[in-house]
Amino acid sequence: MKLHFLGTGGGRYATAKQLRKTAGMILEGEESSIYIDPGPGSLVECQEYSTEKLGGLIVTHSHPDHYCDAESIIELVSVIHENSCKLLAPESVLNGYGDMEKSVSNYHQEMCTAKVNLTDKPYAEIGEFKIETQEMFHNDPKTRGLKISDEVKTFGFWTDSNYSDELIKFYQGCDALIINCNRPREGNIRGHTSLTDVPKILEELDVKAVIITHFSDKFLESDMEEEKAWLDDQVDAKVIFSEDGMTYPGDRKLSSF
Ligand SMILES: [Zn+2]
Repeated sequence: MKLHFLGTGGGRYATAKQLRKTAGMILEGEESSIYIDPGPGSLVECQEYSTEKLGGLIVTHSHPDHYCDAESIIELVSVIHENSCKLLAPESVLNGYGDMEKSVSNYHQEMCTAKVNLTDKPYAEIGEFKIETQEMFHNDPKTRGLKISDEVKTFGFWTDSNYSDELIKFYQGCDALIINCNRPREGNIRGHTSLTDVPKILEELDVKAVIITHFSDKFLESDMEEEKAWLDDQVDAKVIFSEDGMTYPGDRKLSSF
């Protein structure tokens, strides 16, 4: 499986000013693909990718940089490609929670051939992928972290969250871990992960590669090379700072050269 990074920005400022793209990720397998967190710009950005294999989408929580283009992607998958379209999302996204209204309309939820409320049922499958999820520690308390496997590899997605020891066990057995790391070493904020947390996350895990993504304005303003060098020094895993248009594993898209 290959993971395409259509967008690597996150948080209000980076999103509103499009300091990085916020078009989420496509996990592509032999038979099918999954759209993960289709934020603003996803429909535009994904036109450059082969979307014919998409068999569904995962929306990890109810914040716009994660759900904004979900309805358009549902239409692309189910109306344009006429594929069956599975929607995996927590309670907040499907039904609303507290002050947050649902992020995907009933009309579009009905357009999906199946939907899984991850708050009630943390496991699901899309095509050849097996998906496990767990609750994270974020401002949307229903936010889900992900572990997705095909028959060969397992990718973990440490989505928007505070660091907590309680989360580590879930990510055991991942070959690569993608971390939504909103902040550099300085200036950690509640509900988010900063670079300082990453060595703690990896300490008990045997991941081969750690991919830092979901960069905020503060992270993008920092000395990114220095931040990366610091992390390289701290951990055994290969450290990758994601870039828009990057594919893991594999080279960047030819058009980016
Ligand atoms: Zn969020």
